[in-house]
Amino acid sequence: MIAPINKIIPFSNVDGPGNRLAIFFQSCPFRCLYCHNPETINMCNHCGICVDTCPTRSLTIKNNKVLWDDSTCINCDTCIKVCPYLSSPKIKYMDIETVIKHIEKAKPFIVGITVSGGECTNHPEFLTTLFKEVKKLGLTTFMDTNGHHDLSLFPELLAHTDGIMLDVKAFDQKQHYALTNKDNVTVLKNLNYLLEKNKLYEVRTVLLHDHQRNIDTVENVSRIIKDKCYYKLIKYRPFGVRVEGLKICGDNSVDDAELSLMKKIAETNGANRIITV
Ligand code: SF4
Ligand code: SF4
Repeated sequence: MIAPINKIIPFSNVDGPGNRLAIFFQSCPFRCLYCHNPETINMCNHCGICVDTCPTRSLTIKNNKVLWDDSTCINCDTCIKVCPYLSSPKIKYMDIETVIKHIEKAKPFIVGITVSGGECTNHPEFLTTLFKEVKKLGLTTFMDTNGHHDLSLFPELLAHTDGIMLDVKAFDQKQHYALTNKDNVTVLKNLNYLLEKNKLYEVRTVLLHDHQRNIDTVENVSRIIKDKCYYKLIKYRPFGVRVEGLKICGDNSVDDAELSLMKKIAETNGANRIITV
């Protein structure tokens, strides 16, 4: 069993509780306008456009496939910047054994792992097997998901998952579609289902320069979650956002006043475990 992996970060303290190894899977069903790592959205189609831009000749084409040599790559990310398809040639297909080797190296310094993306739940069977092995190492298993796939369909995966961070990008259907290119029917189903199953560690909402959308989302989410999990409110920041997204979401970060106001609204509705970023 293999899965496309964009990168593995051995230590992260922003991807769930404590120090964690974070695994970023490639490909995502959403097209979020404010995505900070849009190169994780699509699988590489091997068009070859990026190959000649590599200053270290770490990219080659063989049998119509673009190959990446990580031993000479200097991680300048020129290839990612020129890719017109929201992808990256720096993807590795890894099996469970290889991922576990990465985890074992970091094990003395971490409390667990978090799978993220892209969208990690594009690979439910891989995650289920991986989490079972991680549990044997005595580590905790967390998942960062956009909630597009119905998680009630993967009971075995959930049984081996300690906590889930779920994005609710907009509560209103039309606004969610405008932001992500997908509806949020399953996202909201997952929100309620994961609360019922006591698997929700944190819900995340990015606040944009759209006051009414912020109010509508924060009001509705906080009324549902109350004090049952963390609610992370994140200011939109333009760093890493692609041009198309900047045109709609703006060149400036959301200000602290908006963040404080949304925190107050959430607290008024009973959500008292708020993190602002
Ligand atoms: S990041 Fe891309 S362009 Fe830069 S050296 Fe590595 S493969 Fe080449
Ligand atoms: S990373 Fe992008 S530009 Fe490079 S071969 Fe793949 S799709 Fe083409």
